[in-house]
Amino acid sequence: MIHQVSKLKDANRILPYVMVLQIAVLEAAAQEHITPETILDLRVFVPILEDHLNTKRCFRDRSEIIARWIMTGKKDIRKSLVEPLSRFANTPVAERIRFIDAIRDDILLLYHPRDAEFKVAILRNEAGDWKKGARDFLYEFYDLWQTGFPGYIFPRSRQKYARQDFVQEFEKCNPDLFICAVCDGAAYTTKTAGHVYTSVDHFFPRSIYPHLSCHPLNLVPICSCCNSFIKGDNDPMILDDRPLQLIDLILPYQGSDNALRQKAYIAVVKRNPRHPKPEHPMQLELKPARDFDAGNKIAAFNKLYDVNGRWNASLDEIEDHVFRRLTQYLAIIDSANLASDPDALIRLLKTLMAQTDLENMGKDSFAFPMVWLLKSYIDQVENQRENAPILKALTDWAKHNSQRCKLLEVHSEVIKQRVPDD
Ligand SMILES: [Zn+2]
Repeated sequence: MIHQVSKLKDANRILPYVMVLQIAVLEAAAQEHITPETILDLRVFVPILEDHLNTKRCFRDRSEIIARWIMTGKKDIRKSLVEPLSRFANTPVAERIRFIDAIRDDILLLYHPRDAEFKVAILRNEAGDWKKGARDFLYEFYDLWQTGFPGYIFPRSRQKYARQDFVQEFEKCNPDLFICAVCDGAAYTTKTAGHVYTSVDHFFPRSIYPHLSCHPLNLVPICSCCNSFIKGDNDPMILDDRPLQLIDLILPYQGSDNALRQKAYIAVVKRNPRHPKPEHPMQLELKPARDFDAGNKIAAFNKLYDVNGRWNASLDEIEDHVFRRLTQYLAIIDSANLASDPDALIRLLKTLMAQTDLENMGKDSFAFPMVWLLKSYIDQVENQRENAPILKALTDWAKHNSQRCKLLEVHSEVIKQRVPDD
């Protein structure tokens, strides 16, 4: 992530019960003598599940209603949950139990990331049908969240907990984040009165890591472009066909230690002139900041979300943002001298760079690349003085500023005239 996101208190308290429940259902289906046919016959399996839930303290007094909700609650539940669960039962019991143990280990590993891989990764072509059954069960279970998990699956019968509650808590816990924490380029929400629309990314995709589909540390609201078009179902644990460890990744919710806005910078460098496409002469490269031992982190992040490629494709737009902001400053202080004096311009660029970093970051699109573009202009003016292209461009702009000021005055009147008379 470019921006740090804060952990959600409610989600971290509530969602673990969903994972415990998912595991309990798999456990019920992994008991001796349970066959695919047992599960398909709900008159037999629902009481078995109920008995098993009774062995869990957190579900004990509500086991009947919970068992019924899971196995019969939704219209197409037979196809989405019951049949996949029955396919899971189509392997020896020992194998089912090993699988459930591995799921438990993976869930704990995400709470305490270290130098390790997940044990369960269900890849389409490699997994047996029983494993795909478990995958489909867990995958579809997540969809029940859309309308809300009923309050009775949580101890002390709290209210229904829906995906929208999670999204609203995310907003509340991240009040200074207006834009996508991943790409820094777009808003991540659209709001109406009472509802926040956003896409919730499974950092570890639920098609491969279905057991993490309800893990509170795996769910993060980001822009739908990052989520659907760029990242999709790509596996974060693989980089250039090599498996990665969990500590190789920039995981969400891991504190400022893992937010790239603190740990990385963007170099603005000359593009190779032999580049096949006649594009912008400069390009942006995300690099580890001083003293940050990045390992695979930045490469893995870039592979997953292609932020370098996307910022470069928008470099003209980012430059335009910066130039407009500079000229808007200059227009107010109306100083033609400031634009043509290298030292005065350096002071202005430094002020704007620091302000963007402290005040606009996470709030305005592209504030992160803008900081580093401004840094590159400071270097340019320091090295080339009067010959710096940015100084020339601003001096040119300042020449026409008095004429422009008149235009603005006229335009302000035009705007006022748009309002009808009372
Ligand atoms: Zn994004």
